[in-house]
Amino acid sequence: MSKHVVVIGAGIEGACSAIELLRAGHRVTILEPGEPGGDQAASFGNAGWLSSMSVVPPSGPGLWKKVPGFLRDPLGPLAIRWQYFPKVLPWLTRYLLAGWTEAKVLRTAQALRPLLKDSPVLHGALAREAGVPELIEHKGLLDVHPNRASFEAEAMGWRIRQAVGVTWSEVEGEALRAMEPDLAPSFTFAVMVHEAGRCLAPGRYVAALVAHAVRRGATLRKAAATGFKVDVQVLKGVTLADGGLLECDAAVLCCGARSRPLAARAGDHVPLETERGYHVMFHGAEQGPRHSAALAGAKMVVNHMADGLRAAGQVEIAGLDAAPNWKRADILRDHLQRCFPGLPNPYPADKVTTWMGHRPSMPDGMPCLGRSSASADIIHAFGHGHVGLVAGPRTGRIVAQLISGQTPEIPIEPFRPSRFH
Ligand SMILES: Cc1cc2nc3c(=O)[nH]c(=O)nc-3n(C[C@H](O)[C@H](O)[C@H](O)COP(=O)(O)OP(=O)(O)OC[C@H]3O[C@@H](n4cnc5c(N)ncnc54)[C@H](O)[C@@H]3O)c2cc1C
Repeated sequence: MSKHVVVIGAGIEGACSAIELLRAGHRVTILEPGEPGGDQAASFGNAGWLSSMSVVPPSGPGLWKKVPGFLRDPLGPLAIRWQYFPKVLPWLTRYLLAGWTEAKVLRTAQALRPLLKDSPVLHGALAREAGVPELIEHKGLLDVHPNRASFEAEAMGWRIRQAVGVTWSEVEGEALRAMEPDLAPSFTFAVMVHEAGRCLAPGRYVAALVAHAVRRGATLRKAAATGFKVDVQVLKGVTLADGGLLECDAAVLCCGARSRPLAARAGDHVPLETERGYHVMFHGAEQGPRHSAALAGAKMVVNHMADGLRAAGQVEIAGLDAAPNWKRADILRDHLQRCFPGLPNPYPADKVTTWMGHRPSMPDGMPCLGRSSASADIIHAFGHGHVGLVAGPRTGRIVAQLISGQTPEIPIEPFRPSRFH
């Protein structure tokens, strides 16, 4: 039966959900107060990795020992602002517990793998149908290290990836030089994950997907949702910031890091936090990686995109409202210059842009994907943390399957929104 579905938020999860809902024969209204794929969204400024191997959650065994350092060093790759510490403590405790043992991390990886697997292929198909095939590339991703010992220090993560079916090849010494001639010679070892891919302009890609949904009949409305009108577990409509009510049969909550108050209004008090991240872009750069690369030590991803060279990374726990600390973008800039010494140094200031955005992060590294407690007509599709872009296509398909009354194509039990109740 065709339903009127309101998709709340036009980031990557909303864009993919809208397209799959239309494909399933539903009528779709997308609510978005900003521009689809605009710089208010995490989907705008991410690293562009379609890293189907990113199944290992950020928290792992022994991480608790590093917490004092996270508080002491405000510019470290993971930092917690002192003022925010009391507020984030419950989330942080769950975060540390979620990665307490290797067995727990493996269980998370097993749950995430079906959500991420085949992502470059699925993104490729979406990009073709939206008329932007050039924005998705499927040539593998590199994880680069100073030496083999640095890679082996991350053995647990790779052991777990292997256990869930990820394969890779090693590239060393001269072979790495030949593959990445601009990379600093201090990097001598890398692994290439061939199944992975990348997006060359994440914001533009989301905008193109939403435009495609609109061409297929979706209505895009510039408005913010404030809650739901539910009558004995049946959804009647979505309430709007202007006081209006948008009547509908079903709704998808995908406001990224800003989903928490709306989730509460749908009966689910979720421990959603923002892991703030940054990027710096060198526009017009000719030097840089031939493949997109994660650089160990620098804890950042470098991606040569359609509009320039982007270095993205950093995790800052400071809430949704604190001002950005642009020194973090400077750190990314300095790493970028060090890792690719052929770049003009300093890079011309008028060709450098910076950005800060909010990863929507659950403490266990898994999204909230499933029906709400208040009404089965409200579907939660937020909290994808570090893997929202790569998880987008499968998330959209699952949303459409739930609203169409079908069994989701992968197990979603581990993602149930009520798991922290
Ligand atoms: C530095 C950085 C690097 C990253 N790198 C990668 C990567 O390489 N690969 C990867 O897979 N992921 C990556 N991520 C994570 C990824 O970007 C996010 O998980 C993903 O973009 C989240 O998408 P979303 O649609 O849930 O949220 P968003 O993209 O944030 O979109 C949410 C939308 O909801 C709208 N909204 C908010 N409130 C309301 C309301 N009340 N009503 C209506 N609309 C509302 C917002 O305006 C926004 O447009 C990275 C993130 C960061 C910060």
